[in-house]
Amino acid sequence: MKPCTFCKIPKEEVIFETKHCYVLPDKYPISRYHLLVVPKKHYAGIAEIPDKELFDIIKTIKKMEKKMIEKLKVNGIDLRQNYRPFVPEGKLRKSHIHFHLIPRGFEDLVYKTQGKAKRGELSEKELRRLKEVLG
Ligand SMILES: [Zn+2]
Repeated sequence: MKPCTFCKIPKEEVIFETKHCYVLPDKYPISRYHLLVVPKKHYAGIAEIPDKELFDIIKTIKKMEKKMIEKLKVNGIDLRQNYRPFVPEGKLRKSHIHFHLIPRGFEDLVYKTQGKAKRGELSEKELRRLKEVLG
């Protein structure tokens, strides 16, 4: 079995971290600055996360959302968590729970194109900026 990628996140990908979670850019962003908040411990679903850790994760989501709106001038953000144990583990489904912070704009194409919106990878410069602004 392949090791879980979210159990071993490379340090250079981490924008911000707390005692219980990491924040990093999504490798398959559906909009610019799409971030993931990932618990450090491996849990499959939200019900497994101890309350103390969940509080730390939610506080981190709150902090990131506030900073993204203030500093990155994002218009709005979708917060998503997909729990789909019936889908096989793969590139687009991880058994390690994570929360998506997806920047949104008025009449953007994120969902109109049903996931086929043009996805751009972050440049090194953009990654440095995220660490500087959100870290
Ligand atoms: Zn894991």
